[in-house]
Amino acid sequence: MLARFDPASTAWFLDVDGTLVDLAPTPDGVTVPATLPSLLERLSTVTSGALALVSGRALADLEALLPGVGVTMAGDHGAVVRFADGGKRWLSRRRPLPRPLVREIQNDLGQLPGVLVEDKQTCLTVHYRQAPGSRDRLRRVLEAMAARCGTHELTTAHMAFELRPRGGGKGVAVARLMQTPPFRDRRPVFIGDDVTDEDGIRAALLFGGVGLRVAQDFAGEPAAVRRWLAAQAEAGIVTTEGQIV
Ligand SMILES: [Mg+2]
Repeated sequence: MLARFDPASTAWFLDVDGTLVDLAPTPDGVTVPATLPSLLERLSTVTSGALALVSGRALADLEALLPGVGVTMAGDHGAVVRFADGGKRWLSRRRPLPRPLVREIQNDLGQLPGVLVEDKQTCLTVHYRQAPGSRDRLRRVLEAMAARCGTHELTTAHMAFELRPRGGGKGVAVARLMQTPPFRDRRPVFIGDDVTDEDGIRAALLFGGVGLRVAQDFAGEPAAVRRWLAAQAEAGIVTTEGQIV
């Protein structure tokens, strides 16, 4: 049984796909559980706003997935943050991928059966969940492209490769937010399911926090993450008598 975290001193950093929502064959295919928006808002409220979603999705995509949910959201692996009050800030210098390179990838790889190229402007994801046999070929081509463009590096994700700005990553988002109220001086807890989350977990540990992995700590089940977070949110509700229930 995992510990309860004191809402007065905890900052939550939560990956989305594979952590809060079940993965789907394509990013557009995910289903957001009806209870998730209110769960996130409750947990954010009991921690005075110290909750951030940290996702590889583009920020606009994240906002569209959780419309009207007033919590801090970091998109593009933390390159850009929308604070709970709606203010947006770029955390790492905005470096769009060269458009000719994007077109080349779309033409060369986007045509392969089952391969999906997702253009997020600053980063680009090539999904091969429906074409696992293409993995090695995709890696070879994308490695060569990353070497050519210099500003972006190749990273691996769940059945996908990503080109993303060098020096970015979820760890940057955690580190930057941890220097900003209301996250500052709290103990970060990062929950993720993927290799790109390890970066965020390392940053959480550096700030004296905790990293939880969906596979190890929640039996691979986003539903288990949600249930546990709901319990954390409930634990943080203070009654009018000042008791935590
Ligand atoms: Mg994930």
